[in-house]
Formats: sequence, structure tokens, C-alpha cells
Amino acid sequence: MINKLCIIGVGLIGGSLARALKAADFVEHVVAVGRDIDHLKRAVELGVTDSYEASIENAVVDADMIVVAVPVGAMKAVFSELSGKLKADAVVTDVGSVKGNVVRDARAALHDGISRFVPGHPIAGTEQSGVEASFAELYDGQRVILTPLEETDATATQSVTQMWHAAGAEVESLSVEHHDEVLAATSHLPHALAYTLVDTLAQMHEHREIFQFAAGGFKDFTRIASSDPRMWHDICLNNRDALLEMLNRFSVDLNKLTKAIEDEDSEFMLKVFSRAKKARDQNC
Ligand code: NAP
Repeated sequence: MINKLCIIGVGLIGGSLARALKAADFVEHVVAVGRDIDHLKRAVELGVTDSYEASIENAVVDADMIVVAVPVGAMKAVFSELSGKLKADAVVTDVGSVKGNVVRDARAALHDGISRFVPGHPIAGTEQSGVEASFAELYDGQRVILTPLEETDATATQSVTQMWHAAGAEVESLSVEHHDEVLAATSHLPHALAYTLVDTLAQMHEHREIFQFAAGGFKDFTRIASSDPRMWHDICLNNRDALLEMLNRFSVDLNKLTKAIEDEDSEFMLKVFSRAKKARDQNC
């Protein structure tokens, strides 16, 4: 049970966590803080949070658990504001889609407080943003990856694990580096491809007609291109090395397919398509 939970950035991810914990009766009081007072007021109106504060300093007073749920590019400034303001046993966690740079920023800002910081990433979401899009069931049966550091206090990790369990999620641990490699492949590369595909088509002269005749497959493949551009800009730049490696790998394979189509190399094409179908049918 958390007495006072502070959500910094009450959007889809932070708002859904607050809703889930309230639904599970796992939290006494939820206070939110963010840039836009109207968004914070709306969160209270919707029953997602109990109160709000205009400053991080005021919001974290007496908070037991602080969840940083802003875009990854904004986390550095948030960690700096948290530094020295927390009660001794408070636990800080985040939900950022990238872990390496977030951990670097947390270490630089929190100093000794790093032992109470548990980096986290819920593998759940939608292409919608903002508190209006949040819902209590978002994490039901979904995975949350924690990437505790050498310095992380075991009790802090345990508190964050219990919080996510209460929200309905399963919790797993990975190293920071492994998390960023895996997520570059399974999430960051697909988002980069979806944005680029839709943009390529949108720039073609006949784009109205192309979108008019887009069938289910196109919509399935490109749904994630409706995600917030600023958030994905931040993610791509903050996981630059791992994403570049995946983009380069993918480019090599795409060039091979291009060549096979040019050469009408059916054997190569059928080999790739069959291997991909088998992998998807078995794993997704
Ligand atoms: P969101 O719905 O847009 O919410 C972001 C929140 O952060 C809003 O409350 C926003 O409030 C605040 N915010 C935005 N920019 C800020 C800034 N520069 N400084 C301070 N606050 C700022 O986004 P989200 O989808 O919840 O994503 C939040 C975090 O979760 C990100 O780190 C993302 O990587 C991670 N994540 C997202 C997903 C997903 O599928 N969406 C999945 C897993 C993890 P105001 O605009 O009112 O300030």
C-alpha cells in the first residue's frame, strides 16, 4: 500500500498507473505535477488523481513513491528538480522507453539518492496521449521491465515491483544495456519504419488515392505512426546507438529483398517470407 504517490507527467502512462492503483485500492492519495495546470485539473476531474501541485518541490512533500512519466527528453530536468527534495525512504521510479540515458541523467542528478531509484519501463501503451486516453486496465497481464542498478536498494526494487503487481502487470528484470538493445529491435525500429512509410506515401502526388484504398494490413502496420511525434523523437535520439544498429541491419536486408525482386529471385523471396511467417506465427 502506498500512502502518497506522486505522478510527474499524468498522461497515458502515468494516468493509467494512477487509475489502476486506485482501482486496486493500493494507494491512499495521488498527487500530480506537470507543465499544464489545465491538464492537472482535468486529471482530478476524471478521478485519476486526488490533487495537483504546480511545482515538483511541493508535490513530493511526504511522497512515498514518485513516478516520473514525462517524455524521456524531459527526465533530466525532472531529476534535477527532485534532487535533495525527497524524504529519506521515498522511492523514485520512471516509465521511460529508453533506460541507458535515463539512468545516466538520474545518476548525475540524484547523487546518493540513486540507491532509491528503480528504472522501469511498462511494455504497454497505445498510440493515444494525455490523461484522457488513460485507462485502469492498460497494464493487465502486460510486462513491466525493471533495470535495477548495482546501487539500487533491494527494498526500493521490491516496492516498485509490488506497485506494478497491484496495477495488474508482470515484472521482469533486465540489464540497462540489454533492455535498450531489445527495445530498439522490437519497438523503436518498428516506430521509425511506420513513420517513414506513412511519410513516404504522404509525399507522393497520388497520396489521397493511396490512403483512400488503404486496407486493413496498411492500417495495422501503420497504427503506431499516430503516436506522439515528440515522444518518439526523444526515444530515437536517446537510444541512438542501438537504434542505428537495427536500422543498418534492416537496410541491409531490405536491399537484399530489393535485389531479389529486381532479379525475380523467387527462391530468395519465398525463403524470407516463409521464415518471417513461421517466426511470427510461433512468437506473436
Ligand atoms: P503522454 O500521454 O504525452 O504524457 C506525458 C506527460 O508528461 C503529460 O502529462 C505531459 O503533461 C508531461 N510532459 C510532456 N512534456 C513535458 C516536459 N517537457 N516536461 C515536463 N512534463 C512534460 O505520454 P505517455 O505516452 O504517457 O509517455 C510518458 C512516458 O512513458 C515516456 O517517457 C514514454 O517513453 C513512456 N512510455 C510510453 C509508452 C506509450 O506507448 N505511450 C509505453 C511505455 C512507456 P503536460 O503536457 O501537461 O505537461
